[in-house]
Amino acid sequence: MKAAILTGARSIEIKDIDEPQLTSGDIKIEVLSCGVCGSDIHMWQAGHGWSDSHEPFVMGHEFCGSVIDAGDSNFKKGDRVVFWANLYCGKCEICRQGLEHLCHEVNGKNYIGFVCNGGYAQYFVGKSRNAYKLPDSVSDVAAATIDPLMVAYHAVKRANIKLNDKVLITGSGIIGNFIAALAKKSGASLVAMTKISDKKIVRSRELGFVDAYFDANKDNLREDLINVSQGGFDIAFEAVGNSLALNTCIDDVKSGSRVVMIGNSLSEYVDFAMNKAVLHELSLLGSVSCTEKEFSDTINLISSGTIVPEDFVTDIVSLDKLQETMLRLTAVDDPILKAVIMPNRDF
Ligand SMILES: [Zn+2]
Ligand SMILES: [Zn+2]
Repeated sequence: MKAAILTGARSIEIKDIDEPQLTSGDIKIEVLSCGVCGSDIHMWQAGHGWSDSHEPFVMGHEFCGSVIDAGDSNFKKGDRVVFWANLYCGKCEICRQGLEHLCHEVNGKNYIGFVCNGGYAQYFVGKSRNAYKLPDSVSDVAAATIDPLMVAYHAVKRANIKLNDKVLITGSGIIGNFIAALAKKSGASLVAMTKISDKKIVRSRELGFVDAYFDANKDNLREDLINVSQGGFDIAFEAVGNSLALNTCIDDVKSGSRVVMIGNSLSEYVDFAMNKAVLHELSLLGSVSCTEKEFSDTINLISSGTIVPEDFVTDIVSLDKLQETMLRLTAVDDPILKAVIMPNRDF
């Protein structure tokens, strides 16, 4: 089968490899779509995944497909399923509390497409426990956005937004834009977003969920943000993963407010204004993935029409274009917001 292999730093090669084989508890799918994620870009830049071996492998964790071998599961051939990438154990004390996304065995890194082969290939084999049947009302393209949408959904749940709240989002990527949409649906009266380039927010402007954009590197950014929020935001979301974005959140929320941190930092430690967080009693909340229940909720957000994720997708491309798509996603002046790969189609 055709697969996109991460062979080194900034290098993806399309190769012909053996199709994966089923073992007990597995199903096999023909991959219909796979979303390109910011975490994929980090691995592509580093040239390796999150396993200790650093072997060349197939990334891709935001995918759906059609079942071609249901194994010993209850699925049927032809069922459309989406995979939850979280390789939780289901047995530890955290899993038993319904917090599978924080499972001891996952430990923040054990995901399909991070430590083992994922969806940038024609076929995928994985545990049926991680597969969820898709309603007909969720398209293949929409299914490839369930992963970032669940991340945004979980973060918005953590933030506990109330009617009339003023919300700041640092970062204008797909997660930031999904958060903007969900914040508006939750009753936010103002959604402000920081960005690094006007080209990157072309689709975001068309979507209309953000009321005001601000240049992340502007000198008097704080003054502008305090003005627009009339004294500070009720909630801020850090969706970049760096010191500048986190400190913008800490600087511009009201005393006693929450800052939800979703960004994946490239370095283990990030400087932030600790005294401000202490003296203004800010709650700094980490947010990762989502619970197993929230994964199903996310499918429902789409099937109910609450969110139309296809509107956020700017590019649908074939597997051969993955390397080129990575280059475009890292170019500051390219208007690409979300790309979806269709590994079994040629465009
Ligand atoms: Zn992702
Ligand atoms: Zn567990």
